[in-house]
Amino acid sequence: MPDVLVAGAGPTGLLTAFELERAGLDVQVLERDAEATTQSKALALQPRSVEVLADRGLLPVLEPHVEARLPAGHFSGLPIDYTDLPTCFPHQLGIEQAHVAAAIEARLRTPVLRGAAVTAVAQDDEGVTVTAGGREHRAGWLVAADGGHSAVRTVLGAAFPGTSARVSLVVADLRLTSKPDGVADGWQLPSNGSGYLLPLSGGRYRTVVFGEEQQRLGRDAPVTPGELQRALTAAHGPGIEVGEVLWASRFGDAARQLERYRHGRVLFAGDAAHIHLPVGGQGLNLGLQDAVNLGWKLAARVRGHAPAGLLDSYHDERHPIAARVLVSTRAQAVLGVPDPDAAAVRAVFTELLAVPEARRAVAMELSGLGITYPGTTGRVTDVPAAPDGRAVLTGAEPPAGWTDRVEHRGGTEPRLVRPDGYVVWAGGPGLEEALRRWFGAPSVQ
Ligand SMILES: Cc1cc2nc3c(=O)[nH]c(=O)nc-3n(C[C@H](O)[C@H](O)[C@H](O)COP(=O)(O)OP(=O)(O)OC[C@H]3O[C@@H](n4cnc5c(N)ncnc54)[C@H](O)[C@@H]3O)c2cc1C
Repeated sequence: MPDVLVAGAGPTGLLTAFELERAGLDVQVLERDAEATTQSKALALQPRSVEVLADRGLLPVLEPHVEARLPAGHFSGLPIDYTDLPTCFPHQLGIEQAHVAAAIEARLRTPVLRGAAVTAVAQDDEGVTVTAGGREHRAGWLVAADGGHSAVRTVLGAAFPGTSARVSLVVADLRLTSKPDGVADGWQLPSNGSGYLLPLSGGRYRTVVFGEEQQRLGRDAPVTPGELQRALTAAHGPGIEVGEVLWASRFGDAARQLERYRHGRVLFAGDAAHIHLPVGGQGLNLGLQDAVNLGWKLAARVRGHAPAGLLDSYHDERHPIAARVLVSTRAQAVLGVPDPDAAAVRAVFTELLAVPEARRAVAMELSGLGITYPGTTGRVTDVPAAPDGRAVLTGAEPPAGWTDRVEHRGGTEPRLVRPDGYVVWAGGPGLEEALRRWFGAPSVQ
């Protein structure tokens, strides 16, 4: 019997499984689809996600698939310079989500079980029983990372309050049989108006459109080449011709978040816990950060040395971060509305974002580098994570009793670093208190 079941082999579920396996747990990922998807909703990683994936040794595998390094993020299409951010990766990494997922999946010890859609979940004092792919699976815990339409959320009846979609958008990857010079030659930032078009590898193009026709058509209407042709002609003029449409999907600006990320022995992460308009490139990054925050805490709980409240600190730390992203993306949606008043607000925002302090505050937020959690003093990037998922202590002698949870590294700068890279002690008194607070009682008294 595995220690943990993970529903969903998207980037969030896969990284959670990877983190749990690093910490020595047995994990089984259950995935609805029979084949790994080659379709990518997200095309970019924010700097904090790049830091985490680099720290886990995944960057060399991703490198051949990198399409662009964007020295800026954007707030509803308004460029936000990243070049002075305090990181080795002051850019968004342009890479298709499917490559990120595949790179993580390739590192898992236990292969993903595919064709295993979760349809029922029951829990008791000892564990969870999950029905997936027509048979029952048993484990101590379930991580629900089964995406925005989460079946686990539905079967548990978990409250998912928020706002319904008012805007309808289409995303498509397609080929063009002709295009005017200067159109979609590089990765320009999305503009407001009716969408964007940018080149991908292999002669493909990604477009997102949200014109009047998309608002008129129902959410279930199939996306046709004609609809895409009309939208792209409206945006780029005649001379652009749509060829093969590789995949297309409609999405909206619904903004919802679970009230509680933990339901007994079930923990929610990624889009299963929060959905919003994917403007500003935040969703995938939220999911990846959920995964690294949850992984070590759940591992500690399974191994029996988690201090009281550690597992619940996953909700306490991560819920406010996603709540803030929902506010930000709702604001960005308003700025993108083709309306004279929205244009006036946009003009004011453009002026405000020219103020260096304002630009930097938004950049720190979008990039994920500004994330802090109560009781931590920020992240480190020069203390690589322990390969076995332990915390790391540098620049101080460790008190006896925590070596099974804390790797001692030497060095001169005193720091106690959680497995997700956040500092919980940085010299002075209080080392033992910090060890007890985050990693539990010593194993040898
Ligand atoms: C057009 C578009 C562009 C985007 N661009 C960006 C961007 O640039 N940057 C960014 O950060 N984010 C972006 N996002 C958001 C990002 O794609 C999502 O936030 C991300 O996919 C979330 O990952 P996840 O693993 O939580 O969920 P998902 O990727 O949805 O994965 C969920 C997995 O669960 C599986 N599943 C579903 N139901 C079940 C079930 N019952 N049982 C078992 N498995 C199940 C699914 O098959 C899937 O494999 C974009 C989204 C869209 C729509």
